[in-house]
Amino acid sequence: MIDNATIEEAAYEIMKKAAIDIPEDYLEGIRGMVDLETGDLSAFVLKAMLDNYETATEDRRPMCADTGLPRYWVKVGDAARFSGGFTGFERALRAATARATHDVPLRPNRVHPLWRNEHNNNVGINAPEVEWSFEPDVDWIDITTVHKGGLFGTDYRMLFPGDGIDGIKRFFLDTLIAFGKRGLACQPAIVGVGLGGSKDTCMQLGKQAACLRAVGDRNPDPKIAELELELKELGNSIGMGAMGFVGSSMVVDCHIEVGFTHTGGMPMSVHTFCLSSRRATARIAADGSIAYRSDPQWFTPYMRRETIEWPSQRALDKSA
Ligand code: SF4
Repeated sequence: MIDNATIEEAAYEIMKKAAIDIPEDYLEGIRGMVDLETGDLSAFVLKAMLDNYETATEDRRPMCADTGLPRYWVKVGDAARFSGGFTGFERALRAATARATHDVPLRPNRVHPLWRNEHNNNVGINAPEVEWSFEPDVDWIDITTVHKGGLFGTDYRMLFPGDGIDGIKRFFLDTLIAFGKRGLACQPAIVGVGLGGSKDTCMQLGKQAACLRAVGDRNPDPKIAELELELKELGNSIGMGAMGFVGSSMVVDCHIEVGFTHTGGMPMSVHTFCLSSRRATARIAADGSIAYRSDPQWFTPYMRRETIEWPSQRALDKSA
């Protein structure tokens, strides 16, 4: 049985890890861009970013002064048992957020949208966000935190099915150009694209695609995987590099997630996960032990299930 103290400890630790340690996959992606970048200023910024990551890790301090909006994604195994119930779980996540804000420290960014008051701890009405999902056949709990920065770089458009792939590319470029040219997306970014669903689902899918998949990960649908690579290349060919300077390092990777949608439309969202791509995950086993990693592994076959039945992860693992 997993207790609230263990949940709070795991959530607190990933808050620290996310703020300070840049995920290795993102770092590798940036390193790979340095050699390809031909724009002088853009190349300079990339190198400065790598130095900055190193200093943050050595000094155990956040890599960007803006520590974004801390939030959680939680995946609960069917056989996981926790003693405090779901409200106890959420209380532990909120307590961890407040403690981490004080201890790391994180910038207390969260304020009331109208009255601008705050509790100095990144906790408030509907904050931090907690999104839940489930997993068959397992007894663990995964908690992922992301400190999503940036007030810019996210957009939504209702496309028609007839707009097709060209319409997708056009909106993708419109969004990158609109935010990227002033450095507002703090690129190079992991760009997430949500396609389909209802409007809210489309936004969720795009954000999850940006924040919860590692650089280099491809969608299991080969045609979507191809489109991911095509959009990445397109994004890097518009003449913009790091922080909006002339160059070619705009997109570290592009991830697409889809959801079945209304037959008359093809909603699309675009999300940029900035150069402070902060994420960390804790897996709490049934015996209360905790293991940490930086890849959220959010999109399991169950998450992408297409109809009433779904493929078993165990069977897929065995056949791999
Ligand atoms: S968008 Fe990202 S890198 Fe830019 S200031 Fe915000 S958190 Fe920092």
